[in-house]
Amino acid sequence: MSDCLVIGGGIIGMMSARMLVNSGASVTLLDQRVCGRESSWAGGGIISPLYPWHYDDLTNELSFESQAVYETLCDSLHSSSGIDPQYQKSGLLMMDEFETATAKAWMKRYKISYESHPQGALFTHIAQVRNPRLLQALKADIINRGVNIVEHTQVESLITKDDKVLGVHSSKGDFLASNVVACSGAWTGQLLDLEDDVFPIKGQMIILKAKAGDIKHIILDQGRYIIPRVDGRILVGSTMEDVGFYRDVDQPTKDSLYEFAWQHIPALKNVEIEYHWSGFRPASKSGKVIVARDKKFNNLFINTGHFRNGLNMAPASANRITQLINE
Ligand SMILES: Cc1cc2nc3c(=O)[nH]c(=O)nc-3n(C[C@H](O)[C@H](O)[C@H](O)COP(=O)(O)OP(=O)(O)OC[C@H]3O[C@@H](n4cnc5c(N)ncnc54)[C@H](O)[C@@H]3O)c2cc1C
Repeated sequence: MSDCLVIGGGIIGMMSARMLVNSGASVTLLDQRVCGRESSWAGGGIISPLYPWHYDDLTNELSFESQAVYETLCDSLHSSSGIDPQYQKSGLLMMDEFETATAKAWMKRYKISYESHPQGALFTHIAQVRNPRLLQALKADIINRGVNIVEHTQVESLITKDDKVLGVHSSKGDFLASNVVACSGAWTGQLLDLEDDVFPIKGQMIILKAKAGDIKHIILDQGRYIIPRVDGRILVGSTMEDVGFYRDVDQPTKDSLYEFAWQHIPALKNVEIEYHWSGFRPASKSGKVIVARDKKFNNLFINTGHFRNGLNMAPASANRITQLINE
């Protein structure tokens, strides 16, 4: 029996487990596959919403709170695990026409400024992480801190009594706990009957192998982006597909992402595409992130619906859910 049982080992589940164990709780984390191999692995690692003025206040608050701690968090994970998440403030160059009244109001409200650039506006405060490394570092860190990770274990249903959750039935038997935290990403709608349904929005992405240092900033244009990693690899993303849990990738998308890359940076035209993949963003019906105590079961907590911004919002979102549990 644990104090807290976390369902799902993506960035949200592992960050929540870290905060909970740091607050003195005993924590068991279950994942149906292995930790850190779903959406959190598939994402781009930009530590900001793409067009933040399109999001609600909670998303912006969680983003700013996370941005304030991300570098220190990555340093701490690097020293505890030996794995460098490669946090870098590479800045984001926005090539879209963005100076709408909404964008202006948002910048004024949050005191955000940008530098003029020949190709658009450069937001120098925006950082990125290499998310697969971040996840490996985080997993090693929480194991060191005593989180009991049980992989290849699918939670099938909750064990309930009146207004309480006693634990879960899983493919490897029952797990009992004082509190259950659902961090099951795009699968949450399959597991729980939530008023604000959670479902997958697939995104496809490619990675190119270029020369280090050729591209300095993240480039954003018309909803698509190019992310330069420190070793020269370049990510190009991404699509938004409402196709359920259909994981396959397709050639026309690969071609169009590649075309987007070389049209913005002609030097990428002859660069090799190393890999093409997809992931399932956890979207919610309301379009809002869900960081809350369940309405029916008072020791069930939900931390999901982070959609395009879960890597970015994870530290603050984990902090909020820990505060709710410890209230
Ligand atoms: C192409 C793409 C690009 C993106 N780019 C960015 C970006 O640049 N910046 C950003 O902030 N965000 C980005 N995102 C979004 C971000 O990746 C997600 O918001 C975030 O990863 C969600 O984290 P999660 O832990 O909720 O989900 P996941 O990482 O999907 O983790 C959920 C975990 O729960 C487990 N699970 C599910 N059901 C069960 C069950 N019944 N029993 C046991 N385990 C279960 C799964 O196996 C999985 O490991 C991107 C996403 C995609 C797909």
